Amino acid sequence: MPKPTPPTDALPLLLLVEDSQTTTVLLSKYLSGSYRLLHATDGVRAWSMLQENPNIELVITDIHMPHMTGHQLLVKIRKSDEERYQNLPVIVMTTAEDNVDRNLAFLNGANDFITKPIDEMEMQARVKVHHRLARTIRELEISRKALAEQATTDPLTKLKNRRAFFENGAKALAQARRYISDLSVILLDIDFFKKINDSYGHQTGDEVLILVSHILSSMARTEDTVARIGGEEFALLLPDTNRLGTAVLAERIRVAIEREKFIVGDKVVPVTVSIGIASFGVDPADSIDHLLSVADTRLYLAKNGGRNRICVNDDGKATFA
Ligand code: GH3
Ligand code: MG
Ligand code: MG
Ligand code: MG
Repeated sequence: MPKPTPPTDALPLLLLVEDSQTTTVLLSKYLSGSYRLLHATDGVRAWSMLQENPNIELVITDIHMPHMTGHQLLVKIRKSDEERYQNLPVIVMTTAEDNVDRNLAFLNGANDFITKPIDEMEMQARVKVHHRLARTIRELEISRKALAEQATTDPLTKLKNRRAFFENGAKALAQARRYISDLSVILLDIDFFKKINDSYGHQTGDEVLILVSHILSSMARTEDTVARIGGEEFALLLPDTNRLGTAVLAERIRVAIEREKFIVGDKVVPVTVSIGIASFGVDPADSIDHLLSVADTRLYLAKNGGRNRICVNDDGKATFA
């Protein structure tokens, strides 16, 4: 039985840049069984085809062409800021006697060369190797990004985790120092959470944590970091926010959680939080740990003062007045 041919749109897309029609016809014949081919007759056209077709996985280019040479095209590809161009394999076609062109192509970032007249098997082998290698690199990059994301995300709430909070915090503190700008933290702990778990079950406890995380995310700006840094403890990192703005936000958060109807099954679970805040510039902040420990002292005061409240200074007050 003949082998079924794969649907052509599933085949990898290559760009052939070649002004000679004879070579183009020949290469199409060699490669069209395993790849889809786009064709450009000069570097200018090739560059715009690359922009229009982000699915192009490999480029085979001639050197000497009108308007824009293969060298110039290579330089354009490698100088681009776009990530996909850094890894795009480029195979350059040169003539056997032209080692100057070949070496220049390598200097400009070519992955490989092939000499004309083109040998069918050699062309197929080189394209296959570079195409596979580029795919592997892309897959590795995707899993590297996923792992990095995983390493900084809290699995239950999908907020940033403790590690991400301190990483972002160290960067934000360095920035605040350099530009003499504001930076504040909010530390928040759910009141009598143990009782919520004991009365409604651990799963309800988890759902409360998720709901609280939604409220916090919805009240933060995109440049803020919202993190779950402990079991039922959350922290917000607020760049360009002074202590007054932070106190206002903290109180809004407290009220929003107090008023929220946490309905789990057929039960309404009352939830309140206690909050401590601290601000770079007015509070000691040798490090982000230090700033958070100031907020933690105030969180403790808020708990001691009766819970369901915010505390903004070491006297245990809820306002600066
Ligand atoms: P306080 O008002 O003093 O903060 O009292 P609390 O009960 O909230 O404080 P405590 O630190 O004694 O209890 C926190 C509880 O949070 C204990 C722990 O079992 C629970 N907890 C920690 N992580 C999770 C979690 O991921 N899910 C659930 N459901 N509970 C958790
Ligand atoms: Mg506690
Ligand atoms: Mg608690
Ligand atoms: Mg706690």
